[in-house]
Amino acid sequence: MTTYAHLSEPELELLRRAETVAAQRLAPIAAAGEPGRINRTLLAALAEHGLLDEVFRRDPDGGYRSVSATALCLLREGLARSSTEAETALALQGLGAYPILGAGTPEVIAEWIPRLAAGQAAAGFALTEPEAGSDVAALTLTATPDEAGFRLRGEKIYISNAPDADIYSVFAKTSPDAGSRGITAFAVPRESAGLSGQPLHLLSPHPIGRLVFDGVFVPRSHVLGEVDRGMGVAMRTLDLFRPSVGAFAVGMAQAALDSAVEHAKRRRGFGRTLGEFQAVSHQLAEVATRIQAARLLVHSAARAYDAGIRPTGQAAAMAKLFATETAQFAVDTAIQVHGARALEQGHLLEHLYREVRAPRIYEGASEIQREIISRWLLRDPG
Ligand SMILES: Cc1cc2nc3c(=O)[nH]c(=O)nc-3n(C[C@H](O)[C@H](O)[C@H](O)COP(=O)(O)OP(=O)(O)OC[C@H]3O[C@@H](n4cnc5c(N)ncnc54)[C@H](O)[C@@H]3O)c2cc1C
Repeated sequence: MTTYAHLSEPELELLRRAETVAAQRLAPIAAAGEPGRINRTLLAALAEHGLLDEVFRRDPDGGYRSVSATALCLLREGLARSSTEAETALALQGLGAYPILGAGTPEVIAEWIPRLAAGQAAAGFALTEPEAGSDVAALTLTATPDEAGFRLRGEKIYISNAPDADIYSVFAKTSPDAGSRGITAFAVPRESAGLSGQPLHLLSPHPIGRLVFDGVFVPRSHVLGEVDRGMGVAMRTLDLFRPSVGAFAVGMAQAALDSAVEHAKRRRGFGRTLGEFQAVSHQLAEVATRIQAARLLVHSAARAYDAGIRPTGQAAAMAKLFATETAQFAVDTAIQVHGARALEQGHLLEHLYREVRAPRIYEGASEIQREIISRWLLRDPG
């Protein structure tokens, strides 16, 4: 297909495999889950069908290594085209696990990564707080030294997979006056004494909640990376994942467009099909063009990341910004083409309309992406 002419055969095969498995195997399991809570059957199925193996790649010596940014994008686009819940379950597993995979001690990696890769445990990435969203350096959850470790006190909010995740990558202040240079990352099991939480219910069926840390003891072995270097751990994870949020958006946008095209071919009014009205067909052409532009931006940012080019900040920011805004436009246009039926509860587009909103806010709101791009444009070349 010309849309994917820039991909290799194995890459295209990965995208197609994710889409097919999601449509045939995962969508029914997703539909049977409880909205807003972790669907453990779905996680196990992602492992059973080999998709988590793509996120947690094995070395010949049995160790684990990072997925490529491009493969992550292809998995996320393919899954999103057929099941947003399956897509989200896979993405959250990676987001929560990668700080551990990239910066954990050998013992913590050995304890958690095999279970996460097998879909037997769920992970969460806990950065946001009630008073620290976009401005993450303002976080106030504190970690104070305590004998052989640290005590964590404070609160996290809007944490995907909370409160049911089995292990969290938690970012806490260890040097309160040092801003982003005073943050440390920790691996915190759900069973830790003093850790509690409640689910939150959003517009979409996303598993998400709040976490309260009431003097939670975390042993020194559970520090991820170095003390006061946790922001780097968070940013390295987000650098890998940011283009793939765009891929999630592209997958949703493509599903919306496919549905609108089918509808425009079939639905008749005024003696012709909707697609025969130029006012409709040109809207579809516009959406298709923007989706392809978004896809190419996403793949270009992912390829830059995989080529080791750093920083990839502006490329990833452009990809995430353009793809998530395009997806909102695509879903809205597809609803307009469908008319009232798209608003019925249970319709694909009603579902996508609820799902498409959040990616413009999380992992850096659109305004933050524009900040990254404009700072790069206006930077002092010296
Ligand atoms: C579905 C979902 C899942 C999430 N999952 C996680 C998770 O797993 N882990 C986690 O840690 N967090 C998660 N979050 C939280 C998310 O990362 C934050 O919502 C996000 O960082 C924005 O923070 P905020 O909501 O507090 O908005 P604020 O920071 O209060 O910003 C509100 C708005 O102000 C504007 N704004 C803010 N700063 C600027 C600026 N500098 N310039 C211009 N405009 C600005 C933007 O329009 C922004 O949307 C999730 C959120 C959602 C919706």
